[in-house]
Amino acid sequence: MAETLLEVKNLVTSFRTAEGSLQAVRDVSFHVNKGETLCIVGESGCGKSITSLSVMRLLPSNGSIESGEILLNGESLQKNSDEQMRRIRGNKMSMIFQEPMTALNPVLTIGYQLREPLLLHHKLSKKEASKQSIELLRQVGIPSPDKRLNQYPHELSGGMRQRVMIAMALACHPSLLIADEPTTALDVTIQAQILDLMKDLKDKLNMGVLLITHDMGVVAEVADRVMVMYAGKKIEEGPVREIFENPQHPYTIGLLNSVPNVDDPEFELEPIPGNMPGLNEKITGCRFHPRCKFAMDKCKIDEPPEFNAGKGHYASCWLIDKEAETVDHNQRKITLKV
Ligand code: SF4
Repeated sequence: MAETLLEVKNLVTSFRTAEGSLQAVRDVSFHVNKGETLCIVGESGCGKSITSLSVMRLLPSNGSIESGEILLNGESLQKNSDEQMRRIRGNKMSMIFQEPMTALNPVLTIGYQLREPLLLHHKLSKKEASKQSIELLRQVGIPSPDKRLNQYPHELSGGMRQRVMIAMALACHPSLLIADEPTTALDVTIQAQILDLMKDLKDKLNMGVLLITHDMGVVAEVADRVMVMYAGKKIEEGPVREIFENPQHPYTIGLLNSVPNVDDPEFELEPIPGNMPGLNEKITGCRFHPRCKFAMDKCKIDEPPEFNAGKGHYASCWLIDKEAETVDHNQRKITLKV
């Protein structure tokens, strides 16, 4: 049976602003098992990155976890001091960011930056740390790794820098790797190589991976399970095949229908009309209702709970409510174009 690595329960994360406290993540629960990749998908501003930063306790200074619980290997992270969290980060869990130049220090050599976590967390000698750094660079497919140790980040290409970030993130063999849009800034060929690399390393090291992306192509490539977020809420979750072949929420269907299909010359992209609401917008009922072509009166008043669609698949949409007499179930025959 799958072993749970990360468990997030009823997470609420908010930001202090001039307009008061605004919630960016609203009562979100999910888990990541050992050896699996959970992709969190959604448009920019849906709360996916804030969810991952909440897990890492790396929120901006005006952000805070209002309520909820985050457990890693069954242990609550909430009570940890900043110092304890520093030790957990980079050791038990690591993060890869979208733009490696913001995470790598431009004035320190690659060798220095790779050795640092090994010296800090594993108390290795400098010589041993250098040896392991070379091995890590080799593992992520960097040619002539010994020479790279003396180079600075600006001397490497974007793809190489991202590989260095992955090497740094893996230096202490974390059980959980969080990757926030790790390939968005890279061209397609390098993107495929980095995704393959992450998949290989996940299998080899039995890591849990939480991958944040807006790209359904990336999801299809790497996910075991998928969680879709919209306006700070989880709206659908399930095994990747279920999400692609049997999506239940109109927003997920909209996301899938807005992926270009290069194999079908007749395929027409169908963008989701409208924009995601801002954090300060008050919306009653389903938060997607202003953009949903299936919205019913009920949707504007009552927020849908999470319904069980079977096979580990859950979605929050009144169209799935089999008990509701007010719902026209024919509306569920939503067309999926992919
Ligand atoms: Fe659309 Fe209503 Fe379902 Fe929300 S609950 S996604 S508005 S049908």
